[in-house]
Formats: sequence, C-alpha cells, structure tokens
Amino acid sequence: MELQFLGTGSGISLTLGNNNALINRSILIDCGFTAPERLSRLNCLATIDDIVITHLHGDHCHGLELLGFLNMFALKRRPRIHLTRSMADSLWNEVLKGTMMNLTGENNSPRNASFEEYFEICHPEDNGMSIDAGEVNLVLQPSPHVPGKESYSIRIHEHGKKRAFYTSDVCVPVTSIIADADSYATIFHDVQLFESGNDVHVSLKTLASLPDALKKKIILMHYGEAIAQHDTSDFAGVATTGRVYSW
Ligand SMILES: [Zn+2]
Ligand SMILES: [Zn+2]
Repeated sequence: MELQFLGTGSGISLTLGNNNALINRSILIDCGFTAPERLSRLNCLATIDDIVITHLHGDHCHGLELLGFLNMFALKRRPRIHLTRSMADSLWNEVLKGTMMNLTGENNSPRNASFEEYFEICHPEDNGMSIDAGEVNLVLQPSPHVPGKESYSIRIHEHGKKRAFYTSDVCVPVTSIIADADSYATIFHDVQLFESGNDVHVSLKTLASLPDALKKKIILMHYGEAIAQHDTSDFAGVATTGRVYSW
C-alpha cells in the first residue's frame, strides 16, 4: 500500500498545499482547493475511484467543485464519494449547490443537477463506518476538531493489517481518539506549532508529551510554514508533499 501527500499545510497555509492524501493513486482523502491541480501534476485526476471526506472545511472539501466539473465534462467519470448522510446534506446544500446546481438542459433550458450526478454517493454508516476500496479498508473514527462540527479520523487497513492511522484535523492527541494507537505501523498526525488557548488543532507541545515509542510512529502533517524552526526530532518525521510512504 502506498500513501502520498498532495499537500501538508495548515488550513491557512498559502504555500504548503492543502493536507490531502492519495492512497494507491486511487483513493483520495479529502479534496481541498489545491487538490485538483496537484492531482493533475501527478497524472492522477482520472485514476481517482474513491473520495473520503473527513470534515467540511475548505482545505478538505473546496476542491470538489472543480473535481466534479472535470469528471462530468472532461473525464466522463463519476467517482464514489464517501461521507455520512448529514455531511452529504450539508456539503451539497450549504457548500456546492450554489455553484454546481445550474446546468443547461434541452434547447438551452435551465436544468437542476443533483449531487448524485457528479459523484456516486456512499454512506459509510450503512457499513459500520467502514469503506472497502480494493485491497484497502478504511474505517471512520469520530474525532474532535471544532466544537459542534462532525469530523473523522481514519483507520487505514490493508489485508487486515493496521497500516496507518490518519488523524485528519483534531484538537487532541491520538491517544484521546483511539485506545490502540500503538498497534498501527504509522500515525499521520495533525499538529499546530503554537498554542492560543482555544485551539482546534493539537499543539506540538502536547504531542511532545506522548510516550517516546508512540512518537517514533508519528509523522506530523497539517503544519504551518515555521515547521523547520521547531524541534521535531523525537517524531518519525514531518510529512512532505510528493514523497511516497509504503508498507
Ligand atoms: Zn484542515
Ligand atoms: Zn478542519
């Protein structure tokens, strides 16, 4: 199994790209506004079969308009999108509908498109929050991020083996999300380089207090531009765009 980052930046980074990832060149984890262009650079626009959305923030879902239009009009494909009913409702009605609903019908008449015309919508709650995508199985794990916002981390399994845990955006360390963190080979962890009191991302300082053995499995992601000025040597590494992680 291979995982590659399309970008590794925090939600407000203008240079690092949105923290979105690609598994086996066919499963896209989140689709922020920088994702379509970065998928194009990797020649992967037409290889995406499954899209998983962890939560509704622009750096995780605002690329879906362009990806939907590209698939409908240029690639003539309809990838699957995996998200809960409540998130699908909110994503279409409150985010995408305003720009994607109006299409041209017969004789230039107005026609209303639906979310389903762009993507095959799959609801993980119909399968115990589990998503089967080829040899890879993803399990959505509720995780805290912004108060009141539905958000998920992802257990990434292949052939029943626990390859990676992907926190996506979280305000607590992995040990507060799952009890079996140390049974994963790799943990991709959200990090914020500062603390401000009411943080929706977990700080580097908090992650530094985790057990050493666990830190050796953690690859930091979703960070700010100042990452190089911080000591991250206790961790397995800092995620870099384009590098392929394999198990
Ligand atoms: Zn984010
Ligand atoms: Zn977020």
